[in-house]
Amino acid sequence: MTSNRTFTMIKPDAVANGHIGNIINDITVAGFKIKAMKYLQLTNAQAEGFYAVHKERGFFGELISFMVSGPIVAIILEKVNAIEDFRTLIGATNPENAAEGTIRKKYAKSIDANAVHGSDSNENAAIEGSYFFSEFERF
Ligand code: ADP
Ligand code: MG
Repeated sequence: MTSNRTFTMIKPDAVANGHIGNIINDITVAGFKIKAMKYLQLTNAQAEGFYAVHKERGFFGELISFMVSGPIVAIILEKVNAIEDFRTLIGATNPENAAEGTIRKKYAKSIDANAVHGSDSNENAAIEGSYFFSEFERF
């Protein structure tokens, strides 16, 4: 099987709680290669654009204020079966339902502040990666 890519963000809660290093360690131990990485704080417009698909959902306002509340780490990752394997590594959206040993189980406290993002398809991984990185910033 060919390697493919996913996109992740280490969200403001995990950054504020000092988990950047642990999370990147878990990701690399699981076999993902870092292809691009950036530390930044999103503007409201950037967060709204990234999460546009959720704009009709009741939690959209809270999601945006949370995502701009502090810096994040944006990362493009590569691995065979990247999308599915990364979703398995991070665990369920609600950390209460996330399996033991997953990133959200270990480092997240609530469904809104759930430590990490993970793309849900190859198509969205490509869109999300190019939302943050120009072609010159991706390996
Ligand atoms: P995932 O990040 O697991 O793909 P979704 O795409 O459904 O989950 O939702 C995007 C993000 O919106 C979640 O990671 C979480 O931060 C937030 N979110 C989802 N559902 C809720 C909810 N019911 N209440 C508050 N925030 C939510
Ligand atoms: Mg999602």
